[in-house]
Amino acid sequence: MIDHGSIRSGVSTTPRPDPVDSDRGLPDRAAVVVIGGGIIGSSTALALADKGIDVVLCEKGAIGAEQSSRNWGWCRTQGRDPREIQLSLEANRIWRGLNAKVQGETGFRAEGVVYLCSTESELAYYEAWLEKARIYQVDARMLSSEEVAKLLPGATCRWLGGIYSPSAGRAEPQKAAPAIANGARHLGATILTGCAVRGLEKTAGRVSAVVTETGRIATDTVVLAGGAWSRLFCGNHGIDLPQLKVRGSVMRTSAVDGVPVPSVAGRGFAFRRRLDGGYTVANRGWSVAEIVPDSFRLFFKYMPALRAQWKDLGFRIGERFLSELRTPRHWSLDSPSPFETERTLDPRPDEHILGAAKKRLEAVFPVFTGAKVLDQWAGLIDVTPDVVPVIGPVAALPGFYLATGFSGHGFGIGPAAGQLMADIITGGRPLIDPKPLRFERFSDGSPFLIN
Ligand SMILES: Cc1cc2nc3c(=O)[nH]c(=O)nc-3n(C[C@H](O)[C@H](O)[C@H](O)COP(=O)(O)OP(=O)(O)OC[C@H]3O[C@@H](n4cnc5c(N)ncnc54)[C@H](O)[C@@H]3O)c2cc1C
Repeated sequence: MIDHGSIRSGVSTTPRPDPVDSDRGLPDRAAVVVIGGGIIGSSTALALADKGIDVVLCEKGAIGAEQSSRNWGWCRTQGRDPREIQLSLEANRIWRGLNAKVQGETGFRAEGVVYLCSTESELAYYEAWLEKARIYQVDARMLSSEEVAKLLPGATCRWLGGIYSPSAGRAEPQKAAPAIANGARHLGATILTGCAVRGLEKTAGRVSAVVTETGRIATDTVVLAGGAWSRLFCGNHGIDLPQLKVRGSVMRTSAVDGVPVPSVAGRGFAFRRRLDGGYTVANRGWSVAEIVPDSFRLFFKYMPALRAQWKDLGFRIGERFLSELRTPRHWSLDSPSPFETERTLDPRPDEHILGAAKKRLEAVFPVFTGAKVLDQWAGLIDVTPDVVPVIGPVAALPGFYLATGFSGHGFGIGPAAGQLMADIITGGRPLIDPKPLRFERFSDGSPFLIN
């Protein structure tokens, strides 16, 4: 039961991704098992099935029900860590052909993304980023104050400038992962929902099976795309994946006419047009770091990220502290696992943060005045210490691969991340060099880079 009911009369607090039926029966064997049916697991299954690989995707709840249906829906290329830029450009290319590939609607539209700059230091930050990104031939460019005014008619505010990428896009979070999972099924993948994976069996030191709540699937290759659950899953197998959770709140408005077309982020607000004519709105740069027992265990690993991002974070100790304290960190595979206890992470949205965003948006773009808030929700973002995902094998456990830790930017690069994971597994020429994204960077003394 994940519906929290309404926090305001008529306002739902749980997004509803398009439903995806589960295949029946558990196969005895698969070439690859993917754990987690968010955008990353679904895209990995699609890319593997496209290569003719026999793949089973196991999702403990519903496809896309966690982060992948709760995000802003931005598919941006600008402002990314250098390790993600090429992946974001490849993702942009894949998104453009994805509806045709999956024979479904992901909601992707390449209608541009702009980040507005209110201060000289923001301008300097993006100018420096653009300088570094030039070698990748990004189409992002700096806009002057006049150019911003021309791009965003109807704004009451003048900005110093902005960074604009006309080819970047947006997609529909409640549609994309379901469409991709269905597309994977058309290509031969088996999709199992309500099917938690409790853990891995090993033979002679390598993966030999997954144990699910309904039985065992023999396999020698497993991809964990478990979002915010990945640390817990890994920990049960003695693998220390550093990962913490940050809560982001979002709302959906009724349809509004006359809003500029690109997705726009400015101080205190961000909006994206939806296929239904409404807008997904959030408060740019205001998220809540949940203080949980892992916050203390991982404190020193996260110091550089905290130093870089503390201004955008609120810290709160809430009910998750106790629930995570009570969650077992080790369990046997023949009894229910924590993944069966909490089917869908469904935190409460922060009304205060959202209220401030709506107020700011109405002040800056009066066209939003009178738009109704139809839904609001929150999602738990899984963040690594260097705020970049892990995509690759775990050297200590042959046959086990990670595609996780997308740190608040995995939706836009999801299709390319899935393709990269499939390339790594099959030994094909990888979409990009995966070395900078390897798991072992957290422990092999690599320099700790934060964009
Ligand atoms: C508020 C918010 C705004 C965001 N905005 C953007 C944005 O605009 N653009 C962008 O690119 N990114 C954005 N993100 C980040 C993006 O949503 C995530 O990076 C991305 O969805 C991660 O996908 P995932 O598949 O790794 O994780 P998830 O979507 O969380 O999926 C993981 C899945 O694994 C399943 N699972 C876990 N353990 C098990 C198990 N043992 N057995 C079976 N199933 C299991 C879970 O049930 C879950 O469905 C945002 C995130 C949030 C929360």
